[in-house]
Amino acid sequence: MLNRIQHFINGEWVDSTDTEIINVINPANKKVIGKISDGTTEDLNRAVKAAKNAFLSFSKTTKKERITLLNQIADEFEKRKKEIVDTITLELGSPISNSYIPQFSMALAHYRQAAKELEDFEFVEYKNKAIVYKEPIGVSGLITPWNFPANQASTKIASAIASGSTVVLKPAQLTPFTAMIIADVFKAAGAPKGVFNLVNGSGKEIGNGISSHPDIDFVSFTGSGAVGQKITENAAKTVKKVSLELGGKSPLIVLKDCNIEKAVDITLSKSLFNSGQVCTAAAKIIIPEAIHDDFVKVLKKRISKFKIGDPQNQDTLIGPLVSEKQFNQVQKYIDTGIKEGANLIIGGKGHPEGFEGGFYARPTVFTNVNSNMSIAQEEIFGPVIPILSYEDIPEAIKIANDTIYGLAGYVIGNDKELAQETAISIRAGRVTINDAPEDYSAPFGGYKQSGVGREWGKYGIEEYLELKAILTE
Ligand code: NAP
Ligand code: MG
Repeated sequence: MLNRIQHFINGEWVDSTDTEIINVINPANKKVIGKISDGTTEDLNRAVKAAKNAFLSFSKTTKKERITLLNQIADEFEKRKKEIVDTITLELGSPISNSYIPQFSMALAHYRQAAKELEDFEFVEYKNKAIVYKEPIGVSGLITPWNFPANQASTKIASAIASGSTVVLKPAQLTPFTAMIIADVFKAAGAPKGVFNLVNGSGKEIGNGISSHPDIDFVSFTGSGAVGQKITENAAKTVKKVSLELGGKSPLIVLKDCNIEKAVDITLSKSLFNSGQVCTAAAKIIIPEAIHDDFVKVLKKRISKFKIGDPQNQDTLIGPLVSEKQFNQVQKYIDTGIKEGANLIIGGKGHPEGFEGGFYARPTVFTNVNSNMSIAQEEIFGPVIPILSYEDIPEAIKIANDTIYGLAGYVIGNDKELAQETAISIRAGRVTINDAPEDYSAPFGGYKQSGVGREWGKYGIEEYLELKAILTE
């Protein structure tokens, strides 16, 4: 039982000003695994005060000092690999092999990448006779979701620290324990007091408190569109800069000349990873009519390789969804798909057999989906794969871009030039061709309603900077 009912403020674990607690549940068996504090506005105010005070000196640190700090943080983070991997597995229900790669490895990479970016980052530029200074933005409020408990917080924290800004983090109440280990990491790394603060609690109280706080200069949020809009409205009252990483409905276009077996494997891994609870999940699979039936035949065979199981088992590839709310949302969309006339060929409603004790959903595939259907338009955030078909490339691109979102996209095919052209035509912030690996120096973020701003690498650091021009005679 994890009993972590304190907040991390000004370099110390401190008691909450109230005794309200929140139980945290293991989604694989619905058992309580621990508890945290349901923080108060007073707790938040203490954290903001610490961050504001720390900013006075931290904003003056040199690039070299921050490189050293980021590497110390990365070292301490790495030392806690087992604890972090086990915690992600427990609180999110992520299969243990995925909790390591990519959940843990991505988070670690952001600290190392930020340190690397700083090496040649210029904080001063000369334009004619003007000098342009890039200064840290100030106290940054970070609000994170549950689907990548280490990564979502770490990309924000690494960029903020690299810039010389200080932070107050509110992790999702469904998965708070991983973020609390990051606080331990800061303490062990000897970070100056108040540079990193963490307050647990609800979005309603602490989240709203962050977006409307007069002493917070910037809010970086990852999560749902509805909350993103609310944060933007609140932040407008104190004219705060807001960066949003929201949802997606990312298209995956398969080209006719692909190797079908390879294309199916990439498709399944991009859509079923983390039980589909990924903002960049391939959520709309667009197949040439000419190979549609062969593709579906292979997919039916290959999907059984995605073993459903206890997240603690090394060979499990699909664990439970994070919560009852998420399970119900997925059930609702499976229902909608059937009602709208899509063809259910694999899975369906309910739990997979033998997994009734957790929030497990059945990996589900629909064919005969058209672009107007809700399952082709709305973010399901679960292991549901809608398959659409196209006659020619312009039609494939039209379907791909027929969405309010623009976070990611995927193209699979052998003709490099065609794959590249198709990728360029997708209106999204990050398009992956075939099985290209992640690149932490490349920007991450969304077009359209998928968000505002970019994370990762130097693009992430730039979000945490203000520009100052000094003009001389
Ligand atoms: P959410 O409500 O947007 O939660 C994300 C974070 O925002 C959590 O820390 C949450 O706190 C906080 N929050 C909630 N209300 C807030 C408010 N009024 N002001 C400030 N912060 C607030 O997401 P969710 O309910 O967990 O998931 C719902 C849907 O969002 C999913 O089905 C999925 O479609 C989408 N989603 C997207 C991503 C992504 O990576 N883009 C990640 C997760 C979810 P609590 O601790 O109270 O929840
Ligand atoms: Mg929520």
